[in-house]
Amino acid sequence: MQHQISAQRLGPLGETAAAAVSACVHCGFCLPACPTYQVLGDEMNSPRGRILLMKGVLEGSMSLQQAAPYISQCLGCLACATACPAGVQYGALLTAYRAYTEPKRSRSLSETVTRWLLRLTLPYPSRFRAAATIGQLFSWAGHLLPRELNAMLHLLPGHFPKPVKLKPRYAAVGERRARVALLAGCVQQVLAPHINQATIEVLTANGVEVIVPPQQVCCGALALHTGEMRTALKLARHNLRAFTLEEIDAVIANAAGCGSALKEYGLLLKGTPESSRAHMFSEKTRDVNEFLDALGLRPPHPLPRPMTVAYHDACHLAHAQGVWGAPRRLLRSIPNVAVVEVPEGEICCGSAGTYNIEHPHIAQQLGERKARNLLRTNADAVATSNIGCIVQIQTHLAQQGSSVPVLHTMELLAMAYRQPTI
Ligand code: SF4
Ligand code: SF4
Repeated sequence: MQHQISAQRLGPLGETAAAAVSACVHCGFCLPACPTYQVLGDEMNSPRGRILLMKGVLEGSMSLQQAAPYISQCLGCLACATACPAGVQYGALLTAYRAYTEPKRSRSLSETVTRWLLRLTLPYPSRFRAAATIGQLFSWAGHLLPRELNAMLHLLPGHFPKPVKLKPRYAAVGERRARVALLAGCVQQVLAPHINQATIEVLTANGVEVIVPPQQVCCGALALHTGEMRTALKLARHNLRAFTLEEIDAVIANAAGCGSALKEYGLLLKGTPESSRAHMFSEKTRDVNEFLDALGLRPPHPLPRPMTVAYHDACHLAHAQGVWGAPRRLLRSIPNVAVVEVPEGEICCGSAGTYNIEHPHIAQQLGERKARNLLRTNADAVATSNIGCIVQIQTHLAQQGSSVPVLHTMELLAMAYRQPTI
């Protein structure tokens, strides 16, 4: 599609974004894959429609406010990019568009307050814990709050696990096969600190020395995906200094959204003095499933009883990072575990970063649909690799009266390594 977009105005992703518009041939193959098209049913809430809207705004032929509701309802799940036969890089277009338009957009008071609260708390585990604890105390008054804040309260668990202080280094068990640095994450450290413990346990059991850089900060994923490019760049630069890349074989992420953001550092800082270090950072980043699959697992021990596991593809692992097979292979390597596929597995669960807070109605429909599809598998447990998906799926399974556990793939593997050898 021909366009008049000036790529220079769009920042570091400008050229890729403009190329995405050129590459779209309007074929519509992406429509059935798009969750918002499935739920809302109109062209403007489809990838093809959104590409046209973004093109219009960036060329100046359409007002920002006209396009805003449709672009804002995009989950950024990238199922459209997977489905697209023309290789349109929808993710780069969306990120560049949001970064360009965010400072110019007007928002309602409740949207502004919600964003401000999220920005101030989510990337900082101690602040998030304090805010969430206060939120819990006032959950009885949720119906009095704006819908976004009420949605946020609904997603909070009944109680918070005890915080876990990670050591700066964990030695490999047996012969050392690799040395990695772990991104500890922010929200996950508060809601599910045992995921980092399980990850470290599985890595070290496989002969991997794990460094947890003490100066690391949030990866910047939430800022990046909501158009706050300045914050995203600031966090990326901080992490470039916090990780000693020369001494490690890989940077490990165990949350799909974070891994996806780390892999974008190279592109974000292209043309800056940090360009080559950012490129190296991205090149070294691996999702933990991807890393262990490539390394080759030391055989996990059998679980005491057979278990059927429904594997849920997190969008930012499958669609954004192209990691589909690795987590399935890891799970299948546990004796007594059978992995089953989930109907409509490519459709987002509705978590999508802070989407389930900012667009609770659509997220609710997608969450219900995901839970129904998961229950259809009759699996004993659900496994996935993203804290946002875990929270969203747990919430919706519980709403449908199910107590099927939702686990990170590393939790299942750690469970296996803890079993006695036969
Ligand atoms: S499938 Fe790709 S080329 Fe076809 S309409 Fe969608 S984005 Fe455009
Ligand atoms: S990113 Fe997801 S929600 Fe947005 S247009 Fe693509 S498929 Fe639809």
